[in-house]
Amino acid sequence: MRRPMMAGNWKMYKDTSQASHLAKRISELTKGLSEAEVVICPPFTALKTVSDILSAPSVKISLGAQNAYFEEEGAFTGEISPLMLKDLGVKYCIVGHSERRQFFGETDEIVNKKAKALLKAGILPIFCVGESEEQRKANLTDKVISEQVKRGLEGISPDEIGMMVIAYEPIWAIGTGLTATSDQAEAAIKMIRGEVEAAFGKESSEAVRILYGGSVKPENIAELMAKDNIDGALVGGASLKAESFTSIIAFDED
Ligand code: PEP
Repeated sequence: MRRPMMAGNWKMYKDTSQASHLAKRISELTKGLSEAEVVICPPFTALKTVSDILSAPSVKISLGAQNAYFEEEGAFTGEISPLMLKDLGVKYCIVGHSERRQFFGETDEIVNKKAKALLKAGILPIFCVGESEEQRKANLTDKVISEQVKRGLEGISPDEIGMMVIAYEPIWAIGTGLTATSDQAEAAIKMIRGEVEAAFGKESSEAVRILYGGSVKPENIAELMAKDNIDGALVGGASLKAESFTSIIAFDED
């Protein structure tokens, strides 16, 4: 049984006081909800503040980061290493987000190095893949995603694959208000699980959690979660408000 995960990607929003307020509010509102594992990924500058809030024994929310470099330390001005994140209590880290691929030139090779460096430091990658609108229109969705999966996960052990998280995020659905239909999301995620099985074996493919991301809202989460292969959501915009993120987390509460 895979435990559902709801991960909030705050992107480049929230200064430390706003982040502190939001993390406290999410902690309060989600108290008593236990089905889904909740992860919040603030910007680097708010990680320590949020980490302190989440470290209270009564809070059951995991800390995530949005990026990391693949070296442990060195003359890499402006970069943050997985070991530095580990030191702050980070458990998960997003890698391969389409905004990093698109605006910062991250290739599958870089994403792969980052995923491996994170695992080496004891941080679980939330590894993102997804096709553009043009690629979908040209019927290239499966090809694009399967290449991203193969190249991005190359050299990672089957055990590590089983522990990490994959997020299917069609680029055309991120921040646009357009959501993939639950059938489109399920089809892509099923295909990704098949790729994982072919490369790493059945045990890994049954264990790895695969999330959907792209304009997830309280109104569409239940339909997405009803699908067999969708294990949760990576949420951008709707994770910036405690109420909407909590409604997503509580997708199955009456
Ligand atoms: C994201 O940034 O990963 C994302 C899915 O954003 P949004 O929910 O705003 O589409």
